[in-house]
Amino acid sequence: MSRAEAPDAHSDNRSDDRFGAHPDGPPGTPPAAHPIVRARELVKTHHGEGAPVKAVRGVDLDIERGEFVAVTGPSGAGKSTLLHLLGGLQRPDSGGIWFDGTSLDSYGEAQWAVLRRRRIGIVFQFFNLVSNLTVADNVELPALLAGRGPKRARADRAELLEELGLAGKERSMPGELSGGEQQRVSVARAFVNRPLILLADEPTGNLDSQMARGVMEMLEEINAEGTTIVMVTHDSNIVNQMRRRVIEIENGQIVRDQARGVYG
Ligand code: ADP
Repeated sequence: MSRAEAPDAHSDNRSDDRFGAHPDGPPGTPPAAHPIVRARELVKTHHGEGAPVKAVRGVDLDIERGEFVAVTGPSGAGKSTLLHLLGGLQRPDSGGIWFDGTSLDSYGEAQWAVLRRRRIGIVFQFFNLVSNLTVADNVELPALLAGRGPKRARADRAELLEELGLAGKERSMPGELSGGEQQRVSVARAFVNRPLILLADEPTGNLDSQMARGVMEMLEEINAEGTTIVMVTHDSNIVNQMRRRVIEIENGQIVRDQARGVYG
């Protein structure tokens, strides 16, 4: 995938001037090389029907550029909640998140939405494709929303679907595709704006092992191109095949963080 095709994606003029409170020191301190994502003392409580549930209980986390991180742990451990906090889909009760060195503490909905449109791609377990749009339109839409012209959006979509092995599916509706194909389309949609990081919440959780393999190959290809990936999964087969960084969560806290880890 040629970065030259997307000059606005990874090469904007991000300057340290606009970085807010930097976790490494007071304003004026020369910025240290910063991780792509930094979280400090994240806490999140869900207030549902029953008693409040403290889903994330003080998480500190640094994710470096180019990493492919598996976030694992038992059901209910707080994995999805943590991923949602990192993508701004939910807000922490306390604690801070920095993205590429910028504090996001003061970000409102609109700023988070822009960040997700341009820098953070998200893939969900149940695909979340727009069912009455074609594959092509599903993938083009985020490019158009990010301000790309229609011609360019169409060209980028065509190139991406070709590269990701989905050429020929452009006119299909999501409901006509297999689960594995739908998930690959949703990865393409999350990637069309060439985000710096892709957050994936159980992307293979609804797929059989062969389809899961196809999605994992696609994610590995995207990661090999330089995009950081954080993937929630409780599938030990997948984690153990990856042999990448494994962060294990239990009861809302990181209990293990291994560089080339295994799980289960
Ligand atoms: P995991 O992804 O590891 O399965 P989750 O982050 O989904 O864990 O959930 C962590 C805990 O928070 C669980 O006890 C779950 O029931 C609870 N929880 C998650 N989302 C909500 C919500 N929207 N309202 C109430 N409780 C929630």
